Amino acid sequence: MSDSVAIFSGGLDSTTLVYDLVSKGRIPLLVSFDYGQRHKKELSCARLIANRLGLDHHVVDLSGISNLLATSGSVLVDSTTDVPDGHYSEKTMKTTVVPNRNMIMLAIAAGVAVASNASDVFFGVHSGDHFIYPDCRPAFVEAMNTATILGNVGFGTIPTSLDSDFIKAPFLYYLKADIAYLAFELNVPVEETWSCYKGGKFHCGRCGTCVERLEALHEASTRYYGVSGELRFDPTVYEDKTYWRTVV
Ligand SMILES: [Zn+2]
Repeated sequence: MSDSVAIFSGGLDSTTLVYDLVSKGRIPLLVSFDYGQRHKKELSCARLIANRLGLDHHVVDLSGISNLLATSGSVLVDSTTDVPDGHYSEKTMKTTVVPNRNMIMLAIAAGVAVASNASDVFFGVHSGDHFIYPDCRPAFVEAMNTATILGNVGFGTIPTSLDSDFIKAPFLYYLKADIAYLAFELNVPVEETWSCYKGGKFHCGRCGTCVERLEALHEASTRYYGVSGELRFDPTVYEDKTYWRTVV
């Protein structure tokens, strides 16, 4: 019987979040979204990890909105455009923003939580997302929490006080490397998570999220294992293992 709802993409952040919840005795119901993203690899990774953990997992089909969102030029829903290589600090990375994605996903996850009397909704945004993604910033999370409480007063296990947290983003002030460090501590199967925007056979090692992932796992392995310079503790296969060093 689930006690909470977690938005679960099958990536490193949300997988670590779910492992963390399970390690604390929580039983999250996992919700993934098919919003017509340019590949489905993350969804199959999500399915695999959810099965491994024995958690209830649902993929919500929002694929019908991808054509409407693609007019934004977002490379994640418009497969006629190319995913940019480079670091998240570069201007081109704005093309990886999907309009209002987190509000859409949180609204649905919160509805599921209220319907099933779950006590909270978790999602895995972190401080590295703040710069480029407005819907990952603390003010947005706070506003979404307030709106969810107001919109569901008297239903499910919605708290009565606006000061309570129903929507929880425990990594909101973490660095990506902090999440990677926690992943090592919790024995998260890092190589089974999927981050790459391109969705090829292997992680490309060059897109914004691959660069961020490589940098974070490298920093975390240095911190956790005291091993510098080698990605010994990231068994993920990358097509390009060295590019990230040139852009961070
Ligand atoms: Zn990539």
